[in-house]
Amino acid sequence: MGNMHKECAVCGCDYNPEPSFYYGSMYVSYGYTVAIFVAVFILGKYIFNLDIVGIVIALGVTLVLVAPYLFRLSRATWLNLFVKYNPDAKK
Ligand SMILES: [Zn+2]
Repeated sequence: MGNMHKECAVCGCDYNPEPSFYYGSMYVSYGYTVAIFVAVFILGKYIFNLDIVGIVIALGVTLVLVAPYLFRLSRATWLNLFVKYNPDAKK
């Protein structure tokens, strides 16, 4: 799941600008997880009228299902915070 290209195929952007660069993406992932938690809680409580056990189960299933996507999204978000797109990089 953590495998990724060393550089962008289009512009040559280095996807690993420094060692342990993606540790910071854990904070981004945490933010996304909290947002999903709140969304699932509101949907479960007010739309589907689930009890707390149902909400916890729905939350667990949702987080397991979105974990791979969230992992990649967090890394992409973190990289985009620090690396700006340069269309002339490879020319
Ligand atoms: Zn690129």
